[in-house]
Amino acid sequence: MTTVLLVGAGHSHLHLLRRAAVLRAAGYRVHLLAPRYFHYSGMASATAAGALPAGAGRIDVAALATSHGVQLHEGTMVGLDFQGRLAMTSEGAQLPYDVLCMAIGSVVALPGIDVDAGVLKVKPLTELSDLDARLRASPSAIDGSGASVTVLGGGSTGLELAAHLSVRPDVARVRLLQAGPTIGADLPDGARRRLAALLERRGVDVRTSCQVTRVSAAEVAYLDGSTSQHDVALVATGLAAPPLLNRLGLGDERGIPVRATLQHVHHEEVYATGDCAHFLPQPLPRIGVHGVRQGPVLLKSLLARRRGQPLPQYRPQHRALAVLDLGAGVGMAVRGRWWWYGRAPLHLKRRIDERWLRSYRQR
Ligand SMILES: Cc1cc2nc3c(=O)[nH]c(=O)nc-3n(C[C@H](O)[C@H](O)[C@H](O)COP(=O)(O)OP(=O)(O)OC[C@H]3O[C@@H](n4cnc5c(N)ncnc54)[C@H](O)[C@@H]3O)c2cc1C
Repeated sequence: MTTVLLVGAGHSHLHLLRRAAVLRAAGYRVHLLAPRYFHYSGMASATAAGALPAGAGRIDVAALATSHGVQLHEGTMVGLDFQGRLAMTSEGAQLPYDVLCMAIGSVVALPGIDVDAGVLKVKPLTELSDLDARLRASPSAIDGSGASVTVLGGGSTGLELAAHLSVRPDVARVRLLQAGPTIGADLPDGARRRLAALLERRGVDVRTSCQVTRVSAAEVAYLDGSTSQHDVALVATGLAAPPLLNRLGLGDERGIPVRATLQHVHHEEVYATGDCAHFLPQPLPRIGVHGVRQGPVLLKSLLARRRGQPLPQYRPQHRALAVLDLGAGVGMAVRGRWWWYGRAPLHLKRRIDERWLRSYRQR
């Protein structure tokens, strides 16, 4: 038997859990090292802003693992012994492996910004889920004047959150700060204009070309020496690989360097997928679709290893559909230069998300 240790219940590993019987039949012992719950990012903005119930995007990883006969070691990976092929866990255990698969996601990238401890970041998603409670607890929300929120970062996540917060009755002011000259820089021009108009209509104070140096619990400091105040700040300045990878010697802030086969460039027994991977053949954005689509490739690769067959390669799709949830029942679907705004795109998103979640909740 070959021991495969899955670290992190990222999207590709959720797929492997469901297919654990196939892996076992091929001669694998499957172990998983992960926190008990997986939080689905597709619903994270809506749940964090209180528009959907808190557990709407949660998958019980322990239940999923148990129902597929996989041993879950609840916790996180904190150390690695490459020579001895051992993973150290936050619970003090040492887990042996023959093949190591990493899907531990990403953290918020902080490009030159000093962020005080306690300021909310959008990743890990467990941190973002505190947003609703923080807003409710803010003195301005309690005294009825309405909380003032600063969202740092005008990419898809910052836009979604600013849009959601702008329709919360206990939020009086939303300020969206963007370092570059435009918000939604990856979106088609028309979509960007539509979003800017929506945010303006909802009273969001959008500031572009804004150089922030520091964020604290109560204040933002700008490069020109000025400041602005808030009750709650949210940092959504993009995603980077977890710093842990550097400490483990597995990669750097770009991720674990992998070939098209998803194997580490120097360690053929190590695989990485999703946001924590640095896909060497071409740069990939940190979006869920790659983790999802890499799952079946990883499964095939593990099976091919056992059979001594050539390993499959991951071929990223050229364009992926993304649907922004903009609160108040509207969304925006984008694929390449095509975009579609209104209630129907959000309805479509909910159907896709719920179907995906259901597939990991049915046992
Ligand atoms: C607010 C928000 C909204 C987003 N919305 C979308 C969207 O609508 N569509 C989209 O495509 N992308 C979206 N993204 C991006 C998306 O979150 C990521 O691209 C995607 O989650 C990456 O998937 P993954 O499988 O690599 O890892 P993740 O989904 O992040 O899963 C990694 C798992 O590993 C666990 N883990 C972390 N560290 C360790 C460790 N040391 N040991 C063991 N386990 C560990 C984590 O708890 C987590 O469960 C959003 C991001 C944010 C922040």
